[in-house]
Amino acid sequence: MHRIVLIGPPASGKGTQCKRIESLLGVPTLGTGNLLRREVESGSDLGQEVDGYLSKGAYVPDGLIMRLVQSWMAEHGEAGWLLDGFPRTLAQAQALESDSGFQAPSLAIALDVPQAVLEGRINNRRECSECGATFSVVNGTMDICPDCGGALVSRADDDLENFRARYANYRDLTQPLFDYYAAQGKLLVVDGTASPDDVYSVIENHLTQEVS
Ligand SMILES: [Zn+2]
Repeated sequence: MHRIVLIGPPASGKGTQCKRIESLLGVPTLGTGNLLRREVESGSDLGQEVDGYLSKGAYVPDGLIMRLVQSWMAEHGEAGWLLDGFPRTLAQAQALESDSGFQAPSLAIALDVPQAVLEGRINNRRECSECGATFSVVNGTMDICPDCGGALVSRADDDLENFRARYANYRDLTQPLFDYYAAQGKLLVVDGTASPDDVYSVIENHLTQEVS
């Protein structure tokens, strides 16, 4: 059974790989961002508690996230899962192994991308001022949205500042998971600087060999 944790810094292409792994294996994906949003929208007691943190821009505490993940797993996780953005901390990873209602992952896939490469991606990112679609502009030549014809704008300064804060968090809190999963022999490190297709083919090879 596949129980996979996907680890990677912001802008590492995790979302793209997640979708492809999900359709390869047919396992449900838990993205903690989506999970939190859905809970808030549901208006449940837990959702209102979550909203109290999110609306202040504060971190949702570990314990609250653990409860949400636990109920998601009880509902969807019987035949395996893929986790995106969780565990985010060593404490969460340890709880996933040992707390009741959770199961240990069978594999951790880490996308390895140096900070300078990630910042380059953010500098090349453009957003459509009309429809909000985002594009990567390698030589700065594209200025019209191919979807709707709106003007493409760069938010690189804002995004870079935001990225650096999130990256520092990732480096301090999440990167220790590399060692944690490596010590268990569960870590697959993938060079995330390659194209999305090449990154995926490394992951796909590993997963299909694991099955056979
Ligand atoms: Zn557009």
